[in-house]
Amino acid sequence: MIQFFLAFLMYHKDHLISPFRFIPRLLFSRLVFAIALLFLLHGCDEDDSAADDGRPFVVTTTNLIRDVVETVGGDDVRVVSLMGPGVDPHVYRATPRDFRRMEQSDIVLYNGLFLEGRLSEILDRLGDESRAVTGSITREKLVEATDYGGTYDPHVWFDASLWTYVVTDVQEALTKLLPDRKSEFARRADIYKMELMELHEYAKQRIQSIPEERRILITAHDAFQYFGRAYDIEVRGLQGLSTATEFGIQDVTRMVTLIIERNIPAIFIETGVSTRAIESVITGVRDRGFQVRLGGSLFSDSMGALGTPEGTYAGMFRHNVETIVQALTEELQPS
Ligand SMILES: [Zn+2]
Repeated sequence: MIQFFLAFLMYHKDHLISPFRFIPRLLFSRLVFAIALLFLLHGCDEDDSAADDGRPFVVTTTNLIRDVVETVGGDDVRVVSLMGPGVDPHVYRATPRDFRRMEQSDIVLYNGLFLEGRLSEILDRLGDESRAVTGSITREKLVEATDYGGTYDPHVWFDASLWTYVVTDVQEALTKLLPDRKSEFARRADIYKMELMELHEYAKQRIQSIPEERRILITAHDAFQYFGRAYDIEVRGLQGLSTATEFGIQDVTRMVTLIIERNIPAIFIETGVSTRAIESVITGVRDRGFQVRLGGSLFSDSMGALGTPEGTYAGMFRHNVETIVQALTEELQPS
């Protein structure tokens, strides 16, 4: 508890301390504030505590990781993700409710590789009570990233074969929580990994059906490097790896020129990422007398809503593959 309280204080230290720094006589106010905060942190969170049924409680940062925990953990664990559909993990800040959830949890599972840029400090502080699920992916398998806060590209879920390592990591974490269920976790993890490898083969075949000269994926932020490497499609992002990176007029001009030179039929927006960048590219192409279509919306850093087909990893992945294939092959089909 104290650990979380301190983490919370550190996290919000700028806001907390700055108003009081020069007025020590308001120590009392500060105390009142701290007590209020304690109440806030320890107050009952009805939706979570009401569900407390004795099963281990797992908190994940992204809903992509939640999908793995749900699949491997089944009914043996309770899981929530801090970030829902369309939430951008690069700029996400924890809310008081998130802190309560992390405090109540048995473990916090996060992507790591600096995906959760603004949560990194808190996650590190949690020590053994948190775990990066990309930990077992060997560094040689990662895409290096230089223009970024981290050293490697964090978007590993777009290579379904790499995501199997995450399944293993989650399986290990859950087995530590519930050793009695070890064989059941292993069984479910194996099934999930087989499904991921089927998705991997499916994506390879589908992307191959796009004529080679058109096999190029243009999006706003550079989330698809692993996808491009795994499925043999060239990938260009207007912004850098993180949505926190700004794009400039030169980036737009460069992209417009590329689209015209290569006669690229479609470019894509992403859920949770501003459409402004992609819209300015489309306008730029049109201003020069050429056409490029909006190919559709891809899920980049989160899945769709619970209960929809895209609310699972497999559904999200298939949606992306089909959207890309359709948009880049459309004009070639006989009308
Ligand atoms: Zn991203």
